[in-house]
Amino acid sequence: MTVRVRFAPSPTGMFHVGGARSALQNWIFAKQQGGVFVLRIEDTDAARNRPEWTEGILSALDWIGIARGSYEGPYFQSSYAGEHRAAAQRLYEGGRAYYCDCTREDVQARTGPQQRGYDGFCRDRGLEPGEGRALRFRTPDEGETVVVDLVRGEPTFENKLIEDFVIARGDGSPVFLLANVVDDMSMGITHVIRAEEHLPNTPKQQLLWDALGVKPPIWAHVPVVVNEKRQKLSKRRDKVALEAYRDEGYLADAMRNYLMLLGWAPSGDREIVPWSVIEEEFRLDEVNPSPAFFDEKKLRAFNGDYIRALPVEDFVEACRPWLTGTETIAPPPWQPDEFDPAAFAAVAPLAQTRIAVLSEIVPNVDFLFLADPLIDEAAWTKAMKEGAADLLDAAIVAFEALESWDAESLKATLEAVGAERGLKLGKAQAPVRVAVTGRTVGLPLFESLEVLGRDRTLTRLRAARVRLV
Ligand code: GLU
Repeated sequence: MTVRVRFAPSPTGMFHVGGARSALQNWIFAKQQGGVFVLRIEDTDAARNRPEWTEGILSALDWIGIARGSYEGPYFQSSYAGEHRAAAQRLYEGGRAYYCDCTREDVQARTGPQQRGYDGFCRDRGLEPGEGRALRFRTPDEGETVVVDLVRGEPTFENKLIEDFVIARGDGSPVFLLANVVDDMSMGITHVIRAEEHLPNTPKQQLLWDALGVKPPIWAHVPVVVNEKRQKLSKRRDKVALEAYRDEGYLADAMRNYLMLLGWAPSGDREIVPWSVIEEEFRLDEVNPSPAFFDEKKLRAFNGDYIRALPVEDFVEACRPWLTGTETIAPPPWQPDEFDPAAFAAVAPLAQTRIAVLSEIVPNVDFLFLADPLIDEAAWTKAMKEGAADLLDAAIVAFEALESWDAESLKATLEAVGAERGLKLGKAQAPVRVAVTGRTVGLPLFESLEVLGRDRTLTRLRAARVRLV
């Protein structure tokens, strides 16, 4: 039997990092089993779906390595409405489902507000189909439903505690629970790997598989992803969109490595490992069922490690979207013709060891490409204390006299200027750095001045000096 798995997102918002994690787990599992990965877009919630979200899912999957054309699909759930209705009809005709005209108020009036779920009032009323009548599944009164779950063992549900749940609404439209099962069935899905939040649906869905006469799949409910307060990551509160991480400058390799560590770890005492190791070692039955903490700080540190491991040419290439701007990344503050690739290449290795996400490249190098540096006023106030004017005057004179404009000579010169004033190098650097780059922190100062060049450095120092008068 060929293993067939599916990833079945709903296109109702930005692509969630938890979804990306499940997609990767499905992808790896299929690959390990020599199986097939199917992408199914569950677009039946017409009020919340938007085509751009579907495009967002496809491009985000592409970005983390699940490339268009290398999987089956995308299929669209909305194209199978006929099959969903036919399955509902079959369940009705076989006596496995019945029509019900109770409103929620009717049910509550009978059961009291405390009791949840349907009381079975219409079970034996023999109602015909009709406008406003929902179709409910007749759950067995006895026995239990045992879910075989690779992550959770065998969660077992007593059938008598499962209410007669709705499978088609009063307007005849089948609900998610049924559509999802019918599609899995017709797509020959053998393993359903999805987030834990669907576990409560699973006994109901498994009863539907049984009632429709098909052997249910093997399930794997992977842990919910939570924030530092142990709350489920939510798009209203947390940064959850994979695209947001991409546009901030997380590398796809770092991201997918990190996502696979949510609830699982490779062998040995390692976390950063090549993708091939993850593909080889990952096991669903080793996934920890407890909630997995999405630690953005750790992800940042991870990304920094990945950035530092790039060959410098690849780093330069990887920075490009932030140096030019794209459809989703804001353009940098300089004009395209102000950008100097040679100057960038000269400082790239210095930046590479210092930034954790690629978007940070821009504030580190903008001083090289702008006619005037963007002065951060707080940095200015901090650096331009008493003595700054005198120090700048001396630095200007000493720099003008330099024979060779290189980092080493610049450093020795400023060190001497500082020493004459009883200042350590760090203190002497501060006004020079702010005058030239606009900021108190950044790339190593003397290398920066070397690349910026004598004329531009002196112009900026003089401008700062004028401002201090
Ligand atoms: N469309 C469902 C969701 O996005 C997926 C259900 C499933 O994987 O079975 O949550």
